[in-house]
Amino acid sequence: MKIGILGMQGDIEEHLATMEKIKVEAVRVKSVKTLETVNGLIMPGGESTTMLRLLKLTGLFDLLKEKIKNGFPVYGTCAGLILLADEVEHPTQDSLKILDLSVSRNGYGRQVDSFHAEISVPVIGDKSFDAVFIRAPIITKVGKVEILASYNGMPVFVRQKNVIASTFHPELSNDTRIHEFFVEMVKNAFGS
Ligand code: GLN
Repeated sequence: MKIGILGMQGDIEEHLATMEKIKVEAVRVKSVKTLETVNGLIMPGGESTTMLRLLKLTGLFDLLKEKIKNGFPVYGTCAGLILLADEVEHPTQDSLKILDLSVSRNGYGRQVDSFHAEISVPVIGDKSFDAVFIRAPIITKVGKVEILASYNGMPVFVRQKNVIASTFHPELSNDTRIHEFFVEMVKNAFGS
């Protein structure tokens, strides 16, 4: 079993380091060829406009969309969530249109660059999770997604079938529980 980290730009090294910590093989994915070798993919935080351009240039955009629709497990964090959303505002941009939700980029405003907060994430256990938000998007509308965690009454971690997505960056916390949760999802999909 091997996890891919979308390796265009952004928090790639941090996700690879977390995978090493939990002893799961992970590789950087920058091409269609490498995407075909992994069992699940993490789409990291960074700059979604840049990632979108590179996804289209490399042909990954169409392949990824098709694979996700066929059950391929994906975890999008921050910019990764923006790329997976059905609708992106502020400013508007294209996306994979996988998650039934709308998202507003830099939703906490320019003056709030980053912050962290203890949030409750029942699917990973009772102990709260120290979530790091960096120029984070805000989920403004949800449809058929399951809300796994909220902050200030707004969803920040969601699931829709084989896809999970968070507006925060778990790779920047010392807590590996969300990565482990995703690895379990991949194992279950792989085993079936
Ligand atoms: N603000 C970034 C964007 O809109 C996302 C920030 C992040 O991934 N930390 O793409």
